[in-house]
Amino acid sequence: MAASCIFCKIIKGEIPSMKVFESEKTLAFLDINPLSSGHALVIPKYHGATLTDIPDDSLSELLPVAAKLARATGAEQYNILQNNGEMAHQVVKHVHLHMIPKPNENEGLG
Ligand code: 5GP
Ligand code: ZN
Repeated sequence: MAASCIFCKIIKGEIPSMKVFESEKTLAFLDINPLSSGHALVIPKYHGATLTDIPDDSLSELLPVAAKLARATGAEQYNILQNNGEMAHQVVKHVHLHMIPKPNENEGLG
């Protein structure tokens, strides 16, 4: 845990979030500024800025959780995005995987 890290504060419940999945090592919650409906962030509870700062057992659940979210929400098409470092457009320095659903083709039809 890092005292000044926004995502560590979300893990501790010090900053509110819309949680969509939680396990011993992993948390997923909706992005505060979503790129699409259902845009979620999947994070390890272990604090580290980039992939190489995190032990493998904290990384290994991230993709399976993204797949769980796809199944649970019915998302059929989506992007998984993961930024490491400022030049790679990382803003929050706690590893996170973006799960960005695309609208399903039949969305909005009655
Ligand atoms: P990055 O550019 O670091 O990969 O993306 C960071 C993401 O974290 C952004 O999409 C941003 O909207 C999201 N974010 C930043 N602060 C908060 C917050 O306090 N709560 C939530 N739910 N998302 C946040
Ligand atoms: Zn953190």
